[in-house]
Amino acid sequence: MKVYLDHAATTYTDPEVFEAMKPYFCEVFGNASSLHGFGREAARAVDKARGQVAAALGCKPSEVYFTSGGTESDNWALKGIMHAHTDKGRHLITSKIEHHAVLHACEQLEKEGFEVTYVDVDENGKIRMDQLEAAIRPDTVLVSVMAANNEVGTVQPIGEIAKLCKAKGVLFHTDAVQAVGSLPLNVSEQGIDLLSLSAHKFYGPKGVGALIVRNGVRLDKLIIGGAQERSMRGGTTNTPGIVGLGEAIARAVGGMEENNAHVRALRDHFIDRVQKEIPDLRLNGHPTDRLPNNVNFSFEYVEGESILMTLDLKGIAVSSGSACTSGSLDPSHVLLAMGVPVELAHGSIRFTFGRRNTLEETDYTVEVLKETLQNLRAMSPLFNPQRGEIKHV
Ligand code: PLP
Repeated sequence: MKVYLDHAATTYTDPEVFEAMKPYFCEVFGNASSLHGFGREAARAVDKARGQVAAALGCKPSEVYFTSGGTESDNWALKGIMHAHTDKGRHLITSKIEHHAVLHACEQLEKEGFEVTYVDVDENGKIRMDQLEAAIRPDTVLVSVMAANNEVGTVQPIGEIAKLCKAKGVLFHTDAVQAVGSLPLNVSEQGIDLLSLSAHKFYGPKGVGALIVRNGVRLDKLIIGGAQERSMRGGTTNTPGIVGLGEAIARAVGGMEENNAHVRALRDHFIDRVQKEIPDLRLNGHPTDRLPNNVNFSFEYVEGESILMTLDLKGIAVSSGSACTSGSLDPSHVLLAMGVPVELAHGSIRFTFGRRNTLEETDYTVEVLKETLQNLRAMSPLFNPQRGEIKHV
């Protein structure tokens, strides 16, 4: 059996989304900036997609800027805002558990002389609102806090953060890459100034995303070139990708309740069985306020990579930490920020469910996981089954 439980890393492209994209490769291939009929037809498709994104997120089509994905949108939001507002100040605030697209953009800004405050989270991964409020200064330009975390699924109170920022006269950006299609989002009602999203996280194609920028918010360009995206983002328009993004977001938001109910049922069944049948583990992330498809467990006495590779041999795809950090053996910065001890953070696995997963696949995964942990723990010098605790070696 092949079981894909890594939907936070990426989803398959919905076949109906793919069907909608197809004509824009070989038939309607014109450059959306061209003035002739071929170009105008492509431009109409891009306009439709812009409308679909705006309708899904409660903003105006003129507030939607297409990009190459979440990483570009995050970089653009942070650098574009900070570079455009040096007249106000050079300070920005974020959290310690952001995606590297945000954290590494912050590091680069620090090298340029900007100052960044990294706010702590509690043991469930929730941002410390008191710390956030205390960190806001007269020279603070921007607060950037993710809507939901990619590793542990914890959901942040973005409406509350937006309100605080508005009261203090500070701009608010949220990385909603993991949240779109899973959480209700409304940019106008929630008072969000900038929002990043990426199509491949909600059954759309890879390499396309958007940055929502509320009208009136001033930001510098990141990608300089032609006059595409109302002269704010150069580069020939990715018509098929944008069409796919539009279709995918309309379907993801339209079918959100149904999809959430499906993945939540599987996820809860999985958590329930694993907690009853496997000893010595910890569920990471908020117990209830988390993405409906996310499970993150730390298993004592074993390495996450060993579990991942053993499950892979049995056809089950999971992640140890975020996909972006795999390849490095550093424990997850998210788990460490939540106070998970280093040894436990090393034994962490993320399971993220999706539309096509079944109960049968979920039960198969529990069985394989049980066997895997028994075998790996039996070989672990740290595990003493008689005492059920760490052996002093
Ligand atoms: N932000 C978050 C929270 C993510 O999970 C990801 C992808 O894993 C990104 C940003 C980057 O998005 P993309 O893969 O589209 O560059």
